[in-house]
Amino acid sequence: MREILLESDVGEWTETADLIIVGGGIAGLSAAVQGRESGLDILVIERAFAPGGSSALAGGQMYLGGGTPVQKACGFEDSVEDMYEYLKMSCPVPADEKCRIYAESSLEQFDWLEKHGVPFERSFFSGKAAMQHGTECLIWSGNELVREFRERARPAPRGHKVSFVGVEGGGSVIINALIDAYAKLDGRLMCETRVSALVKDSSGRVIGVRAESGKQSRFYRASEGVLLTTGAYTLNPDMLARYNPKMLAKNIIHNGAMTDTGDGHQLGEAAGGQLVNMEYFFITSPFYPPEKLLKGILVNAAGKRFVTEDSYHGRSAARIIAQPEGKAWLIVDNDVFDYPANYKRLNHELVDAWDSVPEMEAALGIPAGALQETIETYNADAAQGEDKQFGKEPKWLKPLDKPPYAAFNLQFESATYITFTLGGLATSIDAEVLDSAGVPIPGLFAAGQAASNIAQDSDGYSSGSCLGEGSIFGRRAARRAASLKAGAA
Ligand SMILES: Cc1cc2nc3c(=O)[nH]c(=O)nc-3n(C[C@H](O)[C@H](O)[C@H](O)COP(=O)(O)OP(=O)(O)OC[C@H]3O[C@@H](n4cnc5c(N)ncnc54)[C@H](O)[C@@H]3O)c2cc1C
Repeated sequence: MREILLESDVGEWTETADLIIVGGGIAGLSAAVQGRESGLDILVIERAFAPGGSSALAGGQMYLGGGTPVQKACGFEDSVEDMYEYLKMSCPVPADEKCRIYAESSLEQFDWLEKHGVPFERSFFSGKAAMQHGTECLIWSGNELVREFRERARPAPRGHKVSFVGVEGGGSVIINALIDAYAKLDGRLMCETRVSALVKDSSGRVIGVRAESGKQSRFYRASEGVLLTTGAYTLNPDMLARYNPKMLAKNIIHNGAMTDTGDGHQLGEAAGGQLVNMEYFFITSPFYPPEKLLKGILVNAAGKRFVTEDSYHGRSAARIIAQPEGKAWLIVDNDVFDYPANYKRLNHELVDAWDSVPEMEAALGIPAGALQETIETYNADAAQGEDKQFGKEPKWLKPLDKPPYAAFNLQFESATYITFTLGGLATSIDAEVLDSAGVPIPGLFAAGQAASNIAQDSDGYSSGSCLGEGSIFGRRAARRAASLKAGAA
């Protein structure tokens, strides 16, 4: 995957297209449909026996806002400006221009998906869950209500789940709709074919690919460019060792398609593209539902709270693994206690129950008095309905004063954590791959998990932003290629 070929290495071009799209997930198929609509001749080359990738496995939530028809029907006000402010705060590495484009594109993106048959109910899921099980559409899917965010951007729920029953696989509804749309537009799709190298001409422009199908190796020429939409690198142990050694820890479940081997990352890098934000990844081990467990507190080995417990679950997980030795417990009292099946599945071990806080503190190895102080402060705030330390929403506040007290062990490397990578190729707002000087590499685009856009890390992650940015920036790549074909500079 790290090979770069020259035009002189090509014996014969088997087929040509305006834009060759490598990978048929959300980013690739969105670009393919958009490309056909913009008048491009497109060839999608897909490694698996069918398109879909991780996108088809996804819950099927897209992060959209600014006043979508679903938000309006459910009585929520939102604006492009509030969404933009929120997105900006969610990026550890500033990506203001991309956040603005994402927020400004959101309404059109929603309409475009519906036009192509992606179903969204006009309904709201009011519970606190990692993903709604039913067909309800709208959900609070990020950190909009967390104090740092809500004080700077008016909060609105923006997770839009497709109409689908189940927490995984809703993405296939979107993928199937895009496959149908692409077929109706007479798009070309070639499966069971893996792109293994990019081809450049003598000026340094990317002009095609080499692809392997069975024992056959063939060349495909692209007049306007090649778009890399090959997904994550979560199943590439060498890349994980280099960029994210924490992701190689035991008790980690790598979430995503079997094709998440970082092919596009490597192809793009070999062509001179820069990989950025590679140290970041998505990680979670949700400790809700049931909602009532949010009334407990998360503490570290020093007995201190370190995050508001009603954060998005990916943020809580990111904060847990940042604690010394990744140690954290969820502390509850008898009123709040529950031990649901998902806790057993995620290995959220029930350590024990104790009649008093000092006994619990001693058993957990927390310095004497530290947990007592934390609970006393929390209880005093909870009694007054205001979490002064972290701003947890009043509805999740309750003094923890009904013994026995219990602790669940959420320590990283003890509990099970679920993860996928987020870093990728540096790209312009039009998905052009940038070199280390920030200059676009002619003829090369990237989108989805092969690129780095606004879904940058777990701390700021909002569910729906991966599918959202894959589709929005994939479509922008296709539009850019179309404008190049029309003679734009
Ligand atoms: C269980 C699960 C649930 C999720 N839920 C959500 C959600 O609800 N909302 C959300 O926003 N995000 C969600 N995510 C994340 C999201 O699914 C991914 O970020 C997104 O699907 C990535 O899209 P993509 O187009 O970049 O890659 P993919 O969808 O993985 O597509 C990449 C495609 O490229 C192909 N490919 C790879 N290498 C080559 C090659 N060399 N040549 C040719 N083809 C190649 C692959 O076969 C694949 O089809 C979830 C992820 C998982 C695993």
